[in-house]
Amino acid sequence: MNILLFGKPGAGKGTQAPKLAESLGAATLATGDVLRSAVREGTPLGRKAKEFMDRGDLVPDDVILGVVGEALARPEYARGAVLDGVVRTVPQAEGMHRVLKASGRTLDAVVYFDIDNDHIVERLSGRTVCEKCQTPYTGRNAGEACDKCGGTLVRRKDDEPDAIRNRLKVYEA
Ligand SMILES: [Zn+2]
Repeated sequence: MNILLFGKPGAGKGTQAPKLAESLGAATLATGDVLRSAVREGTPLGRKAKEFMDRGDLVPDDVILGVVGEALARPEYARGAVLDGVVRTVPQAEGMHRVLKASGRTLDAVVYFDIDNDHIVERLSGRTVCEKCQTPYTGRNAGEACDKCGGTLVRRKDDEPDAIRNRLKVYEA
């Protein structure tokens, strides 16, 4: 079973993906995760991606889709994949179609997360992260102590309301 999760940043794809994967006996494939692990492992595509990241540029679609394609060949995806954040644009959707075809897979479902912007801003601005161990929290305020290590919880710049609205604008464009 291969499922693609689609929708705005902050809509909850990353929260639902592991739950869905678990109930289907599949594994989650998040673009950011596979990209980071390719860079860490120093694969040819990972090294290529790192060149763009080091310059502060966006990693091009063909590199991202290549990394996703390589990840899909791993045994953990033998029973299926829940694809999270792989497709944001029409060219990425077309590219993903080719990657799936090449790996002999078909998509069983696309789940669209339809949520209005005000809810996303409310949801993300309620998120904090431990300064020390990076554990994420929802519904806890900045300045409180981390349950795990006692570090201070902070709100990431990315999760400030203005930054969120800007990300949503970029997504809609
Ligand atoms: Zn902590």
